Amino acid sequence: MSPSGTLGPRALLRRLRQVMAEPGEGQERLDRIANVIAENMVAEVCSIYLRRGERMLELCATKGLRPEAVHTTRMRIGQGLVGRIAERAEPFTTADAPNEPGFEYRPETGEEIYSSFCGVPIQRLGQIIGVLVVQNAAARQHDEEEIDALSVVAMVIAEMAESGQLTGGEGVDLARGSAQTYSAIGGVEGAAIGVVHLHEPKLAVTQPFTDDVEKELVRLDIAMNGLRDEVDALLTDDLSGATGEYRDVLEAYRMFAHDKGWLRRLNESVQSGVVAEVAVERVQSEARSRMERAANPYLRDRLHDLDDLANRLLKRLSGTEEQEIPENAILVARHIGPGELLDYGKSIGGLVLEEGGVGSHAAIVARAMEIPMVVGAERIVAHAQNGDPIALDGDAGTVFLRPDEALFDAMSEKIAAAEAARARYQALRDLPATSKDGQTTGLFINAGLVSDLPQLFESGAQGVGLYRTELQFLIRASMPNRTDLAAVYGRVLDAAKGAPVVFRTLDIGSDKVLPYMRRPQEDNPALGWRAVRVGLDRPHIMKMQLQALLRGAGARPLTIMFPFIADEAEFYQARDYLTESHNWLQSRGYTVSDDITVGAMLETPSLADASDRFFQEVDFLSVGGNDLLQFMFAADRGNERVRRRYSALHPAFLRYLRRVTERAADHDVRLSFCGEAAGRPLEALALTGIGFRSLSMRPVSIGPVKAMLRSVKLGEVKAYLDIALATPVANFPEAFRAWAIEAGADVTP
Ligand code: PEP
Ligand code: MG
Repeated sequence: MSPSGTLGPRALLRRLRQVMAEPGEGQERLDRIANVIAENMVAEVCSIYLRRGERMLELCATKGLRPEAVHTTRMRIGQGLVGRIAERAEPFTTADAPNEPGFEYRPETGEEIYSSFCGVPIQRLGQIIGVLVVQNAAARQHDEEEIDALSVVAMVIAEMAESGQLTGGEGVDLARGSAQTYSAIGGVEGAAIGVVHLHEPKLAVTQPFTDDVEKELVRLDIAMNGLRDEVDALLTDDLSGATGEYRDVLEAYRMFAHDKGWLRRLNESVQSGVVAEVAVERVQSEARSRMERAANPYLRDRLHDLDDLANRLLKRLSGTEEQEIPENAILVARHIGPGELLDYGKSIGGLVLEEGGVGSHAAIVARAMEIPMVVGAERIVAHAQNGDPIALDGDAGTVFLRPDEALFDAMSEKIAAAEAARARYQALRDLPATSKDGQTTGLFINAGLVSDLPQLFESGAQGVGLYRTELQFLIRASMPNRTDLAAVYGRVLDAAKGAPVVFRTLDIGSDKVLPYMRRPQEDNPALGWRAVRVGLDRPHIMKMQLQALLRGAGARPLTIMFPFIADEAEFYQARDYLTESHNWLQSRGYTVSDDITVGAMLETPSLADASDRFFQEVDFLSVGGNDLLQFMFAADRGNERVRRRYSALHPAFLRYLRRVTERAADHDVRLSFCGEAAGRPLEALALTGIGFRSLSMRPVSIGPVKAMLRSVKLGEVKAYLDIALATPVANFPEAFRAWAIEAGADVTP
C-alpha cells in the first residue's frame, strides 16, 4: 500500500482489467468500474461523469452517492467543481469541498457529507469526455501519487469509451456523434461534401492494459530511440544551414525529442500497467489542453512540437501504415504544411483546418489547386472521426460535421448548381470575351505550379497573366538551385504550348515567408523587406532566378514582371540585373532569347505617379489589386477584422485605377489587372468599364467573367461609371450591382 492508503495504479488497473473481461453492457461496466476504483482508492465515493453534448456533464455511475442521482444530476461545463475540472482540463483536489468557492450542492446526490474531493478530467487527445471523482468524509488532501493514479485510470476509461467498450445499455452512449456546425473563415471558395479524412489519424487502443510491463517498456524504448533518430535525421539537413530564430525553433524541437523528463513520465505511466500508446496519449492530452489555454505564442509552439512528436511516437508504436484516402475525402487537420498538402493533391475534395489564416502557405496551395477550404474551425479535430459525413462551404466559411439530411441535401444542391454553371461556362470556352458592342478583353489565368498549366486550356484563357514563382520556393525545405529552377521554368513554357506566360520574379516577405531564409523581425512585414526589395538587396538571389528564367526559356520569347515596384528606380535596377544576366549567359555560350518583355507590377499607390519616362520604358504594367487595395485603404489583406471592409468597388479605388488606365493609354503601355477582384464578375465589369482590357484571374473565374463580359455593352458601362464616379453614391457596390442586373449583365456568382 502506498503511504496514502491506495493500492497503487498497478493493482487498480489489474482489477479494472478483470472488470472489462467480464460480460456486461455499458452501464453495468461503468458501475463496476466506479466500485473498483472506490475500493482500491479507499474512497467512500467514486463517481463517473460523462459528457452530454457540447456543454453538459452527466453523472453516469457512482459508488457512494445516492443511486437516484445517476442520469439525473447534470452539470454545465464550468459549473461546480466537476464542471471546473472539465473546463480547465486539470485535476483538482480539496480537503474541504463544501466550503470551496464554486461548490454546488445537489440535494439528490447526498454529497454534502463528504469533505475531501479529488477529481481528474477524462480526456482523450484534448477532447474532454468526462470527469472522474473520488470523495471521502474525512477532511484530507489527496497527494500527487493518488492524483496520478486517478489520471491513469481516467485515461483508460477514455480509451475504453473511444473503442466503444462503454457504449450500449442504458444511457451510456457518449453521444459524440452529434451534428456540429463551425462558423469559421472561408479560405478558398467552393463547396464540398464527403467524409472526414483526418490528416493525423486517431488510433483506437482496444487493449489499454498490460500485464507485461517489461515488454511495454522495451517497446517504448525502441520507439523512443527510433523517434530520436528520425528527428535528428529530419533536422540535420535543415540545421546545417539554419540560423537565428529558425535554428532556435529546430533546436527546441530536437531537445524535446531527447527530453529525459518526458521519457520518465512515459515510463512511469507504463509501469502503472497501461500499454505504451496510452502513456503517450496521456502526455499528448495534457499538452493539448495546455496548448488551448496558453496565451504565450512561444509556449504554444513548443506544445505543438510536443504534440507533433507524440504523434510520431504513436505512429511508431502502432506501426500504422499510411491510411488509404477514401474517394470523397475532406481533409481535416489542425494545420498542414504546403508540401504535405501537395502530396494529397487532387485526392481530396476539401480542406478544413483548425489553424492558419487565409494567407497561409497551405491556403496559397489550396487556392492554386482549387480545393475548397475553411480555416479556423476550432476543435474540429477532436470532434471528428474518420469517415464522418462532412460538408463545407468555402464561401461562407462554414463547416457542417455530421450534418442532418436536410443540410446535406442543401449542400448537395449548391454543389450541383455550381457544376451546372461550370457546364454552361464550358460551352463558352472557345468563344472570345467580346462584349455585345464588340469590345474584346483578354482573359488570362494566375498560376504558380507546373500542374496548374493544363487549366489554361481547360478554361479557355489566352495565357498565364501572372505566374507566381514563389510557390516553387515556398513548398520546398531548402532554396532551390538554378538548374532545377531552369528545368521547372522550361516545363512551364512547354506546358503553355506557345501561349504567353508572365513570370513574376520572387515575391517573398510579408505573408510569404521562406522557412529556410533568415529574415529580420519586422513590426510591419507587409510594409517591410519583401518582393523586389529582397532581390535588390540580395542580387545573387535575383540574378540566380533571372538566369534560371533565361535558361528555362532558351530561344523562346520570355516575359518577366517585377513585383512591388514602389519607385521606378527599382524597376530600372532590376532590369539592369536582367540585362547583366542575359549578357553573362550569352558570354558563356547559352542560347538566350532576344525576345524579352519586361514589366512591373503596380501594387503601391506611388507608382501611378511615376515619371513619363517610366511609362515610356516599361513594356507593360500589371495592377496587383490585392496589395494595392491594402495600401490604398491601409487595411491589412490578411487581417480578418479589416480585410473585407474596403472593396475594389470603392469609388475612390476605381477613380484611382481609371487614372492609371488613362496614363497607360497616353503612353501606349499594355495594362492588365491581376488581383483577386479580376475574377469576380461585378468587379471585373467595373474594371473593364474604366478601361482595363486584360484581366488575369484564377482559372475557375474565367468562365463566369467571360459569360458576364459577353452579356453587356461595355460602352454603356463606361457611360454609367463616368456619371456614377463623378457623383456621390450611397453604397456604390450595391447601386452598381442593381444597375448591372437591370442592364442585363450576367453577374450571378
Ligand atoms: C496582388 O497583390 O494583387 C497580386 C496579384 O500579388 P499577390 O496576391 O501574389 O501578392
Ligand atoms: Mg502582390
